[in-house]
Amino acid sequence: MTKIEWCHAPGFKAESWNPIVGCNIVSPGCTNCYAMDQAAHIERMSRGNSHYAGTTRQVNGKTVWTGKVAMAEHKLDEPLRWNKRRFVFTNSMSDLFYEAFEVAGIARIVAVMMLAHAWRGHVFVVLTKRGARMREVLSDPEFWMLVDLFISETQIEQCDPDNRRKGDLRSLRVSAEEAMGEGGYLPGIIWGVSVEDQTRADERIPDLLATPAWQRCISAEPLLGEINLERIRAERLTREECGGEDFCGGQLYMSALCNNARECAGQCDSEGGGGASIDWVFGGLESGDRPGRLEWALNLQAQCASNGVAFLWKQNGSFLEGVATQADTDGTPFSWAFADGTYFDVNDERSHTIARDALAHSGGVRHILNEWWASGDGRLLKKPASKSLSGNALPVGWKGGEALFDVPKFESCLQWPRAIVELAADAEGGQ
Ligand code: SF4
Repeated sequence: MTKIEWCHAPGFKAESWNPIVGCNIVSPGCTNCYAMDQAAHIERMSRGNSHYAGTTRQVNGKTVWTGKVAMAEHKLDEPLRWNKRRFVFTNSMSDLFYEAFEVAGIARIVAVMMLAHAWRGHVFVVLTKRGARMREVLSDPEFWMLVDLFISETQIEQCDPDNRRKGDLRSLRVSAEEAMGEGGYLPGIIWGVSVEDQTRADERIPDLLATPAWQRCISAEPLLGEINLERIRAERLTREECGGEDFCGGQLYMSALCNNARECAGQCDSEGGGGASIDWVFGGLESGDRPGRLEWALNLQAQCASNGVAFLWKQNGSFLEGVATQADTDGTPFSWAFADGTYFDVNDERSHTIARDALAHSGGVRHILNEWWASGDGRLLKKPASKSLSGNALPVGWKGGEALFDVPKFESCLQWPRAIVELAADAEGGQ
């Protein structure tokens, strides 16, 4: 069972499954890695008697990964013991494509996911920040031969020494090589990349699009900056993947949300097209001390809506950041508008000098007045009233001392890809 919102797909039981633990940080999205702190906590609780032992250490009072990765053999066949259909986050405590985790281990995990999907209809989501390695491994025919080897081994129950599984898997006909030979549509696994800003989106999304997959998703959490998914810099694309006749060497932009929109940056005016696209985008602002802007989320939602891509918003984070709407002649802002429809004016507050001083202070987030907080670098923050995007508004102007808000209409902030909705409907129809 997990509380992660995007695992709660209608018709499925939400689950997380951690056959491996251990990782290393790769980009700013890792700074407040939840898995790292959790691993340290579990290691302490188990007094070093678990596979978490040695995966983290303390440096200057902070937890860091050691780089060790460990496979939990007793967890490996867990999905084959679940009877009710589940929607599973695979590896919330690691990254399946972490360089130190060997290919054979990845193949064993993929084999279990394939069998579990064929056996009980479980669906798995795998997220990585190592898009290039995911692409390399999943594009290699030898990898799928290895997966088939582990499927056979698991079917003859070598993976169930204690006989804890109900039923017999041997009657299942599951072949990775066969599925990959039919166009690479391996049902039951949604492959995805985590991206926190445009730089990482440009780096990882082209690899995801070039990875053979049934469904593809993007996790934009923690969202640390604006991301334009309709304009991804696709430097890593090859001539074949480009689809255009006059390949320009990768200096092109493409939309990750529509398989027919590629726009060359320079030499070539080919439209490209015919490539893969993203089926699902979900995200959230950081619940830690790095405030994000709801505008980033609202823009992502608008991009998905206009391309018919499912979008799910997990959380608004700990703080909303105000947009400065008026400033003194020296450029110092004195009024701010917030995406929840409220505004703050230093001159309207009786304790305005306190507010000004607090906004000028340095050294982390600090409470100043009522619901208002200072970021430590001159920005004004407030705690959001809810986790959801619904009802939030973008400040669009200022009139007579009042902020003007554009109130977008949201149908839903909790959407799952069409393929998942159809699977759930089929299962219900079949009952
Ligand atoms: S890749 Fe994921 S698990 Fe690894 S350090 Fe970064 S956030 Fe943590």
